[in-house]
Amino acid sequence: MRLITAEQILVNGAFRPGYAVEIVGDTITWVGPLAERLGGDADAVLRPGGAPGLSIEDWGRVALVPGTVNAHNHSFQSLLRGIADDEPFFVWRDRALYRFAPLLGPEGVYTGALLAFGEMLGYGVTTVNDFFYIHDGGNENAEAVIQAAQDVGIRLVLTRTMYDWTGAPASFVETVPDAYRRTRQLMEKYASHPSVTVYPAPHSPHAASPEMIQAGWRLAEETGTYFHIHVAEGQYEVKQIRDKYGMRPIEWLESLGVLGPRLVIVHGVWLDDEDIRRLGGAGAGLAYNPASNMFLGDGITRLPEMLAAGVKVALGTDGGCSNNRTSIFDEMRTCGLLQKVARLDGAAIAAETAFRLGTAGGGEVLGLPIGRIAPGFKADLVALDLDDISLYPPHNLLKNIVYSMSPTAIRRVMVGGRVVWAEGELLTFPLARIRRLVETLTGGWREIIARDAEGVGSQA
Ligand SMILES: [Zn+2]
Repeated sequence: MRLITAEQILVNGAFRPGYAVEIVGDTITWVGPLAERLGGDADAVLRPGGAPGLSIEDWGRVALVPGTVNAHNHSFQSLLRGIADDEPFFVWRDRALYRFAPLLGPEGVYTGALLAFGEMLGYGVTTVNDFFYIHDGGNENAEAVIQAAQDVGIRLVLTRTMYDWTGAPASFVETVPDAYRRTRQLMEKYASHPSVTVYPAPHSPHAASPEMIQAGWRLAEETGTYFHIHVAEGQYEVKQIRDKYGMRPIEWLESLGVLGPRLVIVHGVWLDDEDIRRLGGAGAGLAYNPASNMFLGDGITRLPEMLAAGVKVALGTDGGCSNNRTSIFDEMRTCGLLQKVARLDGAAIAAETAFRLGTAGGGEVLGLPIGRIAPGFKADLVALDLDDISLYPPHNLLKNIVYSMSPTAIRRVMVGGRVVWAEGELLTFPLARIRRLVETLTGGWREIIARDAEGVGSQA
């Protein structure tokens, strides 16, 4: 049994001095005043043998907060940073994603996931949802993502994408029966894994047929899990659904039987009042990616309306080439700033709300006991240096964490009771080795990138 103490611990929305967190295995089993845990004898820990059976770690002048939850990412996209930045969505998609994803194979997918997850851990992301779609006709690539997550020590949700729009690269596309069967196999294999969870995820209304979307929903219902799908990221998709079916996006999903508490939509930028009312009424969730929506020029999700309607909301970074950062602390800040300017109202979203969306909200949307420092929750913790200049002056620590903190304040990151990042180093996998693997994989791409940028290589 371990007790971790720190100068401040965030419990139920307030920082508490003199508190401790008890951890057994990968789970928090108790949180409260250290003195109470020691039977009123706070000095017991200082005496040899004074606290029998307890291992007490004092983390010192840090604030312990829950690990952040990245509710939407595509890990391989971290390899594509800088390739088609500053281009319109479809140029970005064709010159970065569609161009390079088919070249990766399991080793490239593994390297991309190491890069994304290794970097994220340094920013205090302890759980990531990788919405993964480069299948090459099987689960080998998805297994490579899982291996990378295990190797760096991050908690992983793999939303296995189901994709049958043939306009995309062949490596993404599967038939409905193949997608259903392979997704089911992967879900069953990891059903009782302590740090890997697999959910079905038909890609989107534009890249998955109604049959594929319904097959994914059936799978989620049969297995009692969640279901993720991109919805209304761009206006073009809303127009497509209107032209083809004469309906609004959420109304259309409902007509397919795909609406309920297990539904998690990604983006939800172009939804109207009626869409939002339906989502909230169904108890559905949203993975909101403010920086990616800004980077790609998508638009502004109506977050205050979503929250008011009762939609569960989590924050995501989206892929590393549409942000291009991978920090949820960063998304908290961006979410707040974007919503304020969208409404011309400095009170549109408070730091406390943004922080909750990036932590406990992530746990609710992903359906996992994460994002809070409380008994029964996973021991996923981030220690923030109270002496870091970006947290000064400490009038309101939570506001500073959201608005002013820089990553230099992140001293230590724990996932499932294991410290995986400390003092700027990934303890599980050397960052230098990740850099070498990335350079070996992508060094040869630069000629293609340069040719494509000149507009002469697109037929190659
Ligand atoms: Zn996405």
